[in-house]
Amino acid sequence: MYQLRSYQEEAVKSARDAVTAGHRGIVIQSPPRTGKTVIMADIARSATKQCNRVLFIVHRAEILAQARETFRTDGVNMRFCQMGMVQTITRHVDELKTPTIIIVDEAHHALSRSYRKILDNFPQSVKLLFTATPWRMDGKGLDGVADTLIQGKPISWLMNNGFLAPVDYYAPSGLDNSQLKTKRNGEFDENSIEQAMKPKIYGDTVAHYQKLAAGKQAIAYAYNVASAKRLADAFNAAGITARSVSGKTKKKDRERIVAAYRAGKIQVVTNAELFTEGLDLPNVDCVIMLRPTQSLSLYLQFAMRSMNPREGKTAVIIDHVNNVERFGLPTIDRVWTLGGRDKHSKSSNGEPIKSVTVCPMCFATFYRHGDECPFCGALLTEEETIAVDPNAKLKKVEADKRVALAKRLAEDRAMDAVADKSPAELKTYAEIKAYGKLHGYKPGWAYFQAKLKGLIRK
Ligand SMILES: [Zn+2]
Repeated sequence: MYQLRSYQEEAVKSARDAVTAGHRGIVIQSPPRTGKTVIMADIARSATKQCNRVLFIVHRAEILAQARETFRTDGVNMRFCQMGMVQTITRHVDELKTPTIIIVDEAHHALSRSYRKILDNFPQSVKLLFTATPWRMDGKGLDGVADTLIQGKPISWLMNNGFLAPVDYYAPSGLDNSQLKTKRNGEFDENSIEQAMKPKIYGDTVAHYQKLAAGKQAIAYAYNVASAKRLADAFNAAGITARSVSGKTKKKDRERIVAAYRAGKIQVVTNAELFTEGLDLPNVDCVIMLRPTQSLSLYLQFAMRSMNPREGKTAVIIDHVNNVERFGLPTIDRVWTLGGRDKHSKSSNGEPIKSVTVCPMCFATFYRHGDECPFCGALLTEEETIAVDPNAKLKKVEADKRVALAKRLAEDRAMDAVADKSPAELKTYAEIKAYGKLHGYKPGWAYFQAKLKGLIRK
């Protein structure tokens, strides 16, 4: 099997090629959970081996601590490598020796003044800008600080090759979007989130976890310390062992919680303010979102926290705050450009990201193909046609006709597609159904076949 190590080596080589080609500002897009710290350490090791100076900057203490450890373990010559927080380095920029390479982690922040002050001070240095999401919350790209972008492997490729686990996404909403207000920095205002939350959200979150992910170890992202605490209380009251952590939790307590989670003694950790790097929990198989965000970067970090692969694993994400409506499923392939996004992110074929459908019966979230929920089989209607307006009934009839026609066309196409196949070659429940229909078998046949092939859940 393709190893993560070779993925990382490939990234190092691409960076080297870009430098050879004369680029000085290089964005290296790398999806979460592909070990970008190791890629950075590899680069720093070969540079410092030749006595080239490396400067590593980042804006969060947890990331700095973790990177420092990885760099040391990886054999970087620390005499030639300076690592620091952007907030500190920017104040001492005049005292620095000129680095050959500047490495920036979480580089979607690199447009801010403190980063610019450092980067602009060393026009001759090579800048390697690492990020999973190479644009700011407002969509502004990194072309101001970089002249080329190396795009990492698409998510689909990482899933198909076993680097990321597949995901079932559920989105039972506990939030009234219309109450949300945006702050000047582009993120949702905390008080407005409070207003938007439905009062039952904590109890509902526990109930949905029990229904959709019972027994799975989970991490929940809450929108502040109090909500993380409330959620943990709700889990504990239901007999599910939970602890809450935040930026204020002492390091020793945090480590104790991580150890207990690792040992399986804690089922759910609820978290405020501590993102991926600050809390290194193993075996997260379920992510619960109670924090609405406008940041694609944060959204992907939350979602992909559950996607560390393990044989036979399917992760579960339960999104109670409509994040998927803003960004699409975390598993779609996205196209990144240096120029940023022009309003919405694009999928790999250049089209804007399609809106998702949430099944009203089971809350499964998917890109709709046909009229049935692919998770529970519920018949999907066109929701907007049930709007309260005098013509609603008429519209509903028309919509039903459209749906019936679309369904007939889809069935015809499906039957054409399986006409030359034998039952052994049928790969999906839909194919089996089409085959059964084509040959005039009773519906029960298709169900039985699909069950034999393990295509039906439950
Ligand atoms: Zn469903």
